Amino acid sequence: MLSQGPTRASVVLKSGLQVDLRVVDEASYGAALCYFTGSKTHNITLRRLAQERGLKLNEYGVFRGRERIAGADETSVYAALGLPFIAPELREDRGEITAARAGRLPQLVDLADLRGDLHVHTTATDGHHTLAQMALAAKVLGLSYLAITEHSRRLAMAHGLDPRRLAEQCDAIDRLNQNLEGIVLLKGIEVDVLEDGSLDLPDASLARLDLVIGAVHSRFDLPRARQTERILRAMDNPCFTLLAHPTGRVIDSRAPYDVDMLRVIRHARRRGCFLELNAHPERLDLLDSHCIMAKEEGVLVAINSDAHSRDDFVHLRLGIGQARRGWLAAADVLNTRPLPELRRLLAQVRR
Ligand SMILES: [Zn+2]
Ligand SMILES: [Zn+2]
Repeated sequence: MLSQGPTRASVVLKSGLQVDLRVVDEASYGAALCYFTGSKTHNITLRRLAQERGLKLNEYGVFRGRERIAGADETSVYAALGLPFIAPELREDRGEITAARAGRLPQLVDLADLRGDLHVHTTATDGHHTLAQMALAAKVLGLSYLAITEHSRRLAMAHGLDPRRLAEQCDAIDRLNQNLEGIVLLKGIEVDVLEDGSLDLPDASLARLDLVIGAVHSRFDLPRARQTERILRAMDNPCFTLLAHPTGRVIDSRAPYDVDMLRVIRHARRRGCFLELNAHPERLDLLDSHCIMAKEEGVLVAINSDAHSRDDFVHLRLGIGQARRGWLAAADVLNTRPLPELRRLLAQVRR
């Protein structure tokens, strides 16, 4: 416990997260929530907006003279400033207030919009549950399709698949699909993008799959130009569908590799392929700013769990949070599409 008093306390949880507790009047609840959750720059702009209207905004409410005209909930605070409710994920002073004034706020994607997950592992490589167990867990969550995307042979530590084992898994998926109801398994791979931009498995193996996720798992140290070229070259493979965890960062342990993300995104648009937003809590990769970029360039983003266990599907919620920070609506997300439309989109990528 850092501090305590009758209306406030600050504690640090075992996880290291600091929590500040405030007790406020009901009439101030919305204003206090806005004020203390920020962001600071968003709040500064809101206060200026209030001043322009002859109002005063603080943590107690919106005031005209001494009269409180709003504050009990956040919606009332925004309404008093002539704005629609702005979702917390957008409050960064990155154009959300202008968009709100113009009625151009995106209808942000929700967890319920996801129809499937396009990146999971099983016991065939470094996952903890079988094909059938993963399928069942995804179905229980309400998903209607699930792409099985194991590592490729170069990741020997993860027991990555060679062409023969990949073909065996494809057969197993075909057999299982005949017995599954309410969910369809798609055949995929998370194939390593080698240093020269070629893929770790031959095209003949990749051609049988519904989707091919390319992933950089090595040589994070390449200079920017070479790292970028490596990824563009991988995308040029006719089987390539989706770029996994595009910056390669691992939060608090590995910085993103140096890559020209705008070029990558523009190449994806020309090539017609997609980017992943990896929802694993240690990744959350794409970054929010890259989501905005992808949306502007018209490149669809797949929000994937990268589940290595059936318990990992809960991470999709975090991916949704990150996507919302990146202004993504359901239409901007690949795996909000029903299966027939998804199949059409995946087929279009093949050249
Ligand atoms: Zn990976
Ligand atoms: Zn993976």
